[in-house]
Amino acid sequence: MSSVSRRRFLTLGGSGLAAVGVSAYSLTQAAETVSGAGANWPPTPTPLPTQPPTPPPRPIEPRGRETVALLPGSPYQVDGVAIHSGKPGPCVMVLGGVHGNEPGGWFAAEAIADWELTTGSLLVLPRVNWRAAAIVERTLPEIGDINRAYPGNASGTPAQRIAHAIVEAGREFQPELLFDLHESWVFFQERGANSGTAFIGQTVAIGGGANDGTVDRVANVVRMVNDQISPREEFYLRGAATPRPGIQVVPPNNSSGAPRPSATPGNGVTFNGTSSLSLGQWIKGCVPILVEMGQRDQAERRRSQLHQMLVRTTLEQSRMM
Ligand SMILES: [Zn+2]
Repeated sequence: MSSVSRRRFLTLGGSGLAAVGVSAYSLTQAAETVSGAGANWPPTPTPLPTQPPTPPPRPIEPRGRETVALLPGSPYQVDGVAIHSGKPGPCVMVLGGVHGNEPGGWFAAEAIADWELTTGSLLVLPRVNWRAAAIVERTLPEIGDINRAYPGNASGTPAQRIAHAIVEAGREFQPELLFDLHESWVFFQERGANSGTAFIGQTVAIGGGANDGTVDRVANVVRMVNDQISPREEFYLRGAATPRPGIQVVPPNNSSGAPRPSATPGNGVTFNGTSSLSLGQWIKGCVPILVEMGQRDQAERRRSQLHQMLVRTTLEQSRMM
């Protein structure tokens, strides 16, 4: 069974009638083939990735919205929405709620799921780890950490299965950017001598595979958003190999904060490891952007607003809104 199903539920404008269920269909490019899931229990911890093949061009979807479900029918089903402008343009993907105790990210993603576009498509999965979000915990022991599970494994742990389904959805929708909306505790600029994931608030990390032009685009978005917010709220850009004017850049190999980037000779940055920053390896043409919003002394509502500002400014710069 495919780990992604889609159902068009509303057509906006243009083509007339609203509504209408359509097909759930199968993906043809599953990342790996694993047979006899039952026989593979317990799963091996090592994922079985293959490099993504060059995908055929993404078709222009008719204007409207459709529900998207990952792992449909499973206890870990992830619900989302795909928003289509009906016009050619890029696709952007947004993940919220990968960690259940980071509500600024999932509230933002839920708001984003109601946006409308002028070009391109947007795939939003607001509460990826909804079971954890329901109890406001980072995750559940029986699920595991989705953001340490990429590229996933179709017959692995729940976190690996969810991660695998996210990769499959990415291969289907072919986003050029993927926002993963997270929260940290301490603001990066207030971290002092501390390091680790609890001290990377107000950072925007750009994943491996980004060329200089994409880094410039993301840097420009950070600059535009920073111009509209207070000095304390300003974002640092993590993962750019060289300085960018007007913003604070945290270069690769900085010891503060995991997931840790590492420099590659030549072209900047790759992100090793299994966080969403590695997704460019598995979703061809996609640059992941991991936002970490500081929770300390920053209201949840404001955190959600700032997440949305980053995504909205990006879409506006891409002429999608
Ligand atoms: Zn997180």
